[in-house]
Order: sequence, then structure tokens, then C-alpha cells
Amino acid sequence: MKNMFLPLLLLLTICFAACKKSAEGPGETPQTEYDNAAKVRAYIRDLGFPDNAVVENAKEFIAEGDIVFPKDMEIPSGKPKTEQYYTGSLVSATNVTNIRLRIDASMTSMTSEINSAISQWNAISGCSINWTVTTGSSYDVIIIDSNLGSGVCGSGTFPSGGRAGGTIRINKAYIAGNSFAQRARTICHEMGHNVSFRHTNWSAIGESSATAVPGVGGTDASSLMNGGQCGSGATVLSTKDIQAAQVLYP
Ligand SMILES: [Zn+2]
Repeated sequence: MKNMFLPLLLLLTICFAACKKSAEGPGETPQTEYDNAAKVRAYIRDLGFPDNAVVENAKEFIAEGDIVFPKDMEIPSGKPKTEQYYTGSLVSATNVTNIRLRIDASMTSMTSEINSAISQWNAISGCSINWTVTTGSSYDVIIIDSNLGSGVCGSGTFPSGGRAGGTIRINKAYIAGNSFAQRARTICHEMGHNVSFRHTNWSAIGESSATAVPGVGGTDASSLMNGGQCGSGATVLSTKDIQAAQVLYP
């Protein structure tokens, strides 16, 4: 009996030591988060968003009303490329072929609109963007209902670390009175942010600079990625939107 007891005691000792070590880890987190938030803020400035277009809350910065940068995001190395315009931080070639979207219970009533938005992105020929809906616990992006206040239809999150932005928030009550096409547009637009699209009309709404998608420049009144057009914007990805998607994600 003694021979069996000794190994058990040893095992318990090892486990105790391991648990104690991991329990010390989180103590360092606040400083790391603070440092990273400052880097994220500098990155947003580098991207050309004017300070007066950026709002800060506890966990994120929000640019132009609907573009979310989590304070714990990974900052891309190298200068951001800036037209249709993007952030210089792309979803990796592997991840973009299967972006798993989880529809939160709060958004299942808009499943048809979500599927319509997905089909627009997935229908682009010569482009590797492919969204799939998953009900599993493993997902890349979750779409949730969120009260974003009056005037904001939804918000998307820019990608980081080669992964699509993790969250799409939809102001469901606010857009409920819009047409089906406009509700789907909001979702399609926010999905664009999650794969790095910026607002095509960035200069018209006050940004100092943005990175043009090579070969796809200029203004585009019919771009679904124009900002500030909640409930009234284009409902179909424009020719230039499609070209930009093909260039960014061939
Ligand atoms: Zn937007």
C-alpha cells in the first residue's frame, strides 16, 4: 500500500506547483493591456483616422462610428497599405477561405439577412473570401444584437493576427424598420470591415489618409463600403468593391 501512496503524493505535489505558477500569470496582464492599447491608438492614427473620429471605451477604440479596434488586437508589422481602402492587416490566405460565423441567439431573427450578406461576399469570382455559418463552439466571428445608440446601424471589427475581426454588432431594433435589402446591407458592410475593408468615402468623411487597394482607386458612389449611409446606402457590392476583394484576397 505504501508503494502506491508515494507516487500519488508526488503527483499531487507537481499539480500543486503547476497550479500555483499559472495563478501568478494574470497579475501582469493590466500593464500589457495598457501598453498594447497605446500601440493600437498609434496604429489607428497611422491609418489616418482623425482623432475626432475615434471614440474610446473600456475595451476598444471605435473609428467613424462603426469600425472597432480591440485594445488587445495584434498590430500588423510594416506600414499599412492604404481604395477601395483597407487597413493593411489582412485575414491570412488560409483563414479567409473559411470564416466561421456564429449567429448569436439574439440575431437568429435576422438569419435570412445574414445569409443574403454572406452570399454577396461568397459569390465574388476569383476571390478566396468564404463565409460559413456555424452553430458550433468554435467560430471566428460572432454576430450579436447590440444597442449602439441612434444613428449607428452596426459595427465591425478589423482583423488582426491573420484572423478576421471577432465581432459584428448589429443595432437590431434600430434597423428593424429598414427594408430587407438595407438590413442585409448593414450586415454585408460590417462583414467587410471584419476582412479589412475601410470606408471607401473616407476622404469625404474627414480622414486624412487611407491605404488604396492597388489598382482600385478613387471615389465610388455605389460602394457598399461607403460609411455614414445607414439605411440608405448601396445594397449590392459595387464593381470596385468586387475588384478590391479580388486584389486583396485572390
Ligand atoms: Zn462602416
